[in-house]
Amino acid sequence: MTRVLVVEDDPQLVRALVINLQARQYGVDAAPDGTTALRLAAARQPDVVLLDLGLPDMDGVDVIKGLRAWTRVPILVLSARQASDEKVAALDAGADDYVTKPFSMNELLARLRAAVRRTEEAPLAPGATLVETADFTIDLLAKKAVRGDHDVRLTPTEWHLLQEVWGVSQSNKTNYLRVYMAQLRRKLETDPAHPRYLITEPGMGYRFEG
Ligand code: CA
Repeated sequence: MTRVLVVEDDPQLVRALVINLQARQYGVDAAPDGTTALRLAAARQPDVVLLDLGLPDMDGVDVIKGLRAWTRVPILVLSARQASDEKVAALDAGADDYVTKPFSMNELLARLRAAVRRTEEAPLAPGATLVETADFTIDLLAKKAVRGDHDVRLTPTEWHLLQEVWGVSQSNKTNYLRVYMAQLRRKLETDPAHPRYLITEPGMGYRFEG
């Protein structure tokens, strides 16, 4: 059973979500605020988190940061906010996707399935986990990157992006990825302006060139 943690302070919306999710055989826990959400996430180990950004006790972005300190559980943000910088802040903090309120239940469920599917695809084939080039070595499983003779520190988002590049998971967050790709190239490429390894494929996304 796929477990969903619903973090939302609007009781009517919580009720609608719980009914729809349970009807589709999801296990559901609900938290009305951020503090409860962080506690329940640790206690119940959900497979996916649906998170409202406007919570009574804390900003949803801080809930994302709290979760990302220890878990990679997919986080789907429910946002009433139209401003794109709010969404960027949520994505930057580690959210996987967002749905703007009001949303259709069908769209929400489709995005939920996609978020869960991406993590199910995550297990890497042995041999696909180690990437060695003339300039750097990356162990996707051990989360270790070495360039020359020193370790490169990568953020969780950058690791996630590397997995995207290696085809481990799929994403359509192209604009969002672009920012992080530039950052990643600065850390790994000798000439980030003319990348040799982390190649942009117009209309396709990113490709790793060994
Ligand atoms: Ca709210």
